[in-house]
Amino acid sequence: MRVAVVTIFPEMFDALTEYGVTRRAFEKNIIEIKYFNPRDFTDDIHNSIDDRPYGGGPGMVMSPEPLKNAIVEAKQWINGKVKVIYLSPQGKLMKQSRIKALSEEENLIFLAGRYEGIDERIILNYVDYELSIGDYIVSGGELPAMVVLDAIIRYKPGVLGNDESVHQESFSEGIFDSPNYTRPEIFENIQVPKVLLSGDHKKIKDWRRAQAITKTKNTRPDLVRGHNNYQLS
Ligand code: SAM
Repeated sequence: MRVAVVTIFPEMFDALTEYGVTRRAFEKNIIEIKYFNPRDFTDDIHNSIDDRPYGGGPGMVMSPEPLKNAIVEAKQWINGKVKVIYLSPQGKLMKQSRIKALSEEENLIFLAGRYEGIDERIILNYVDYELSIGDYIVSGGELPAMVVLDAIIRYKPGVLGNDESVHQESFSEGIFDSPNYTRPEIFENIQVPKVLLSGDHKKIKDWRRAQAITKTKNTRPDLVRGHNNYQLS
């Protein structure tokens, strides 16, 4: 999968490409990433990428021309089928099923906004999906793009040590994962639940599922509502 990122801060993506599980995906060329900085696609001496909003108001807006030029160049590099995603608080809320669908796309372009956002005409003419990481505002689209890309990478075969992991995590079945314990058996007077030491795989599976359902119901009843199938096996 080729991933192009249109951003004025490409260095921020080192957090993704240089560390941990995600680093492995880039080292193994499972994901190829390339940055397209709108500043490199300007034609004035100040390399301006923003301007005042028509109609007045606070802050600046990212100008359409450098963004368009960066997207066109990114599409040339991708050289194939691609979806353009604008990270935006006004987008559809990210959830695991959307991440899975995106992981099945051939290639992606992420558009990271800054300032008060980007000129609406870029959204109208060039963006396939607007995606939000939550109902709050961060300062730029780079962190949201990294969050989404990290989650996508976890679906790529060969990235996680055990490819089953991604299917056992919270949300993969619409509910949370079960609680985890490792050694020691007793920590600060709390004993690991006996069932996990029993060696009885059926019992362990049932216990884990019951725990996951209970925690999800208590913390996020909205996830469980409307599902009748969250019963013990
Ligand atoms: N004025 C915009 C609004 O109220 O909708 C917010 C602009 S925000 C300061 C700058 C950029 O950060 C946005 O263009 C977007 O790319 C990114 N951003 C901020 N919050 C986000 C969120 N919750 N999800 C995805 N992207 C976000």
